[in-house]
Amino acid sequence: MLNTSSHQSTARTILVVEDEPDLATAIAQRITANGWTARVASDGASAVRAAKQLKPDLVIMDVMLPVMDGIEATKRIIAERPVPVLMLTARDAESDKVMGLGAGADDYMTKPFSPRELIARCEALLRRVERATIIAKNMENEKVLDFGSLVIDPRQRIVTLNGEQVHLTPTEFDLLATLARKPKTVFKREKLLEEVWDWPDASGTRTVDSHVKALRHKLGSQMIRTAHGVGYAFEPPESDDDTATESETR
Ligand code: CA
Repeated sequence: MLNTSSHQSTARTILVVEDEPDLATAIAQRITANGWTARVASDGASAVRAAKQLKPDLVIMDVMLPVMDGIEATKRIIAERPVPVLMLTARDAESDKVMGLGAGADDYMTKPFSPRELIARCEALLRRVERATIIAKNMENEKVLDFGSLVIDPRQRIVTLNGEQVHLTPTEFDLLATLARKPKTVFKREKLLEEVWDWPDASGTRTVDSHVKALRHKLGSQMIRTAHGVGYAFEPPESDDDTATESETR
């Protein structure tokens, strides 16, 4: 099947470290077919050099390698620059898995594996890292969002409306906070799905709609504006002077 996804994330570079040429080629082909760039290194030492040079987004690392094994190579690569590592271990080599994870690998797969699953694991790993980055970024400016009658406290995950606490589900909270961090900015449904649900698949946009509906029910319908055919925007509540009441038709 052709890749028809329009939400394809930015180009990725994956470093494949595998000393079996056939397997390395097969993995690299899969990666390329997925729209990413693959580079192959066939021993641990050249993997360390390649990682330094390429600054890959992800490393697929075999454990059993000539010159320097995958465990040592992983340690050195991560010490230089943090990068997610998916380790390939020999069948049933439990100690490899333990050592691999100890060395800083994020995930592992046991040989033989399905190439399709390998790609799925890579995607999941990249998403996890992206998400962690977003969360970390948000945490930095994790200040209280004060819109007068509506106050959102991201650190305590508390929302108050006219001084009364509003009980939101975790997802509702995340959705509201995401929108409210950029008031009056229209977020596409797909974007919200990605940021709040970590689900970059347009098939789930109805999920966004139903959560918006729930939020409007709890906070009043004015708070979240519909940009027809596009998505939603947070509209800060009107100030108390009541002069700027815009009538909205929907
Ligand atoms: Ca090997």
